[in-house]
Amino acid sequence: MFRPSFALLAAALLNVTRAQNETKAEPATHFLPPGYCCTVLTISDISERVTYPGQSAYEASLASYFDGKSRLTPDCIVQPKTAEEVSTAVKVLVSASLLKPCEFAVRSGGHTPIPGSNNVDNGVTIDLLYMNGTSYNVDTEVASISPAARWGSVYQTLEPLGRMVAGGRGSTVGVGGYLLGGGISHYAPRVGLSCDNVLNFQVVLADGRILDANKNTNADLFTALKGGSSNFGIVTRYDMETFQSEDLWAGIVSYPAWTADQHFKALVNFGLKPNRDPNAALIIFQGYSTASPTDVVRAAFDYTKPLARPDAYREFFAITNNISDTTKIQPMSSVAAEFTSVTTNRVQFRTLSFKIDLATLQETARLYKILLLELQTKASGQWRISCLHQVWSTLYTANSTARGGNVLGMERYTENFIMYQSYLSWSETKDDELFINLGLALTDGIQKFAASKGTAVEYLYLNYADKDQDPLSAYGADKVKFMKTVAREYDPLSIYQTLLPGGFKISNV
Ligand SMILES: Cc1cc2nc3c(=O)[nH]c(=O)nc-3n(C[C@H](O)[C@H](O)[C@H](O)COP(=O)(O)OP(=O)(O)OC[C@H]3O[C@@H](n4cnc5c(N)ncnc54)[C@H](O)[C@@H]3O)c2cc1C
Repeated sequence: MFRPSFALLAAALLNVTRAQNETKAEPATHFLPPGYCCTVLTISDISERVTYPGQSAYEASLASYFDGKSRLTPDCIVQPKTAEEVSTAVKVLVSASLLKPCEFAVRSGGHTPIPGSNNVDNGVTIDLLYMNGTSYNVDTEVASISPAARWGSVYQTLEPLGRMVAGGRGSTVGVGGYLLGGGISHYAPRVGLSCDNVLNFQVVLADGRILDANKNTNADLFTALKGGSSNFGIVTRYDMETFQSEDLWAGIVSYPAWTADQHFKALVNFGLKPNRDPNAALIIFQGYSTASPTDVVRAAFDYTKPLARPDAYREFFAITNNISDTTKIQPMSSVAAEFTSVTTNRVQFRTLSFKIDLATLQETARLYKILLLELQTKASGQWRISCLHQVWSTLYTANSTARGGNVLGMERYTENFIMYQSYLSWSETKDDELFINLGLALTDGIQKFAASKGTAVEYLYLNYADKDQDPLSAYGADKVKFMKTVAREYDPLSIYQTLLPGGFKISNV
């Protein structure tokens, strides 16, 4: 079969466009058949990587999205196996766009529950599925991780080698999106955010060039990718700093809902400690599930040394009446397996931040109760709610600065704060509006209370943000300006803003 090279194809398409411009003719896009962008891919060098509706690879890709709402229907899905093939896909789509825009989406683990962020209707989804390996260099102590690797597989590769990285807490979460949004691991108080543990990104730019970005080469791009999401290129490899692997003392202790106030008081004292033990990570959840219908408070303890019941959590240990306790000394791979979330099909994440303040924490609990009562009367099928309270620590900033910085704007904060996440999950499509609106009312209510009390904090964590939230602006005006400069430098035609419209875009800020 005749397969035009990228250069030939681009030249031919350029000539057509030039001719149209010279004769002032209207672009003849109406002659192009539906699925034109996929047709162009199927006559390119990566034709074998293209899969269509009805084919098993296409259907398996859609079925593997974490959120059912995100299972959009692209005209085709392309599944490259190497950075060179990603580059070919980008070049073909960009050059074909001279005749008709070829919108595309990029997907690694497919865990972000925002429809359109990692998939596209009537366009092309670049699914990095096959780029999922992890390798380790003994001499440099660097782990090279491909974007569609899941954190569980990364830990299973590194643990037998005695090494570990600061990655996602749940085993199925993808590496690609997680690292570009920041990444909070159990190791965050000790080694900083996961993105700050990346030493080098291999990136495919909009013109198809494959670049390295690190502290010495393309250093501005290196910084921008740490929090800047999909605004600059497609990352095809993450080289991460490793450290010695040790067992953790970790697990989840569940209590009746009426202990919430005791947990919040302990959280305030834990969170406000300026020099707290950097091995001690913690999440306080409020939660309910139709699968096990008890309103509970959970404390997820993750101590990154093999020391049971460390003193750092003493105030929490004083809370009695727990219902269950899974804490034990165990390797990171088994901690990640316990943290693996199951979806009941439809998912919404929302986030906000506020000062470490007991009254604001209590307000989150009051509004959670209202949400729960509404859902208990109105929702059908299977559903669950988790509301997470995590301490965002100034320890992250110190670690970031020491490693060259990121774009999250963390230097603005001299005190720890609470990063809040609401996580709703439900089975019935007909309940989409109910859950989405109640989730919004919950975070809006907390936001209003925090604003009135003077406890609101501007920061929004991108990896937990919902579509209508604006985490990039919340990094601060100087970071936005910097990201715009970097985007102009590496993508002067704004391809990753226009042809890749999903996700949080710097052009919308
Ligand atoms: C069950 C669950 C547990 C989670 N646990 C944690 C946690 O412990 N800590 C935490 O910080 N976050 C956590 N998250 C949030 C998680 O970090 C984000 O959802 C993250 O985006 C997931 O990465 P992914 O590769 O699956 O992203 P995807 O959904 O595939 O992509 C997310 C975004 O990143 C872009 N993108 C993905 N890969 C690339 C790439 N290679 N190059 C350029 N752009 C790319 C996509 O286009 C999309 O806009 C969790 C999420 C879930 C659902």
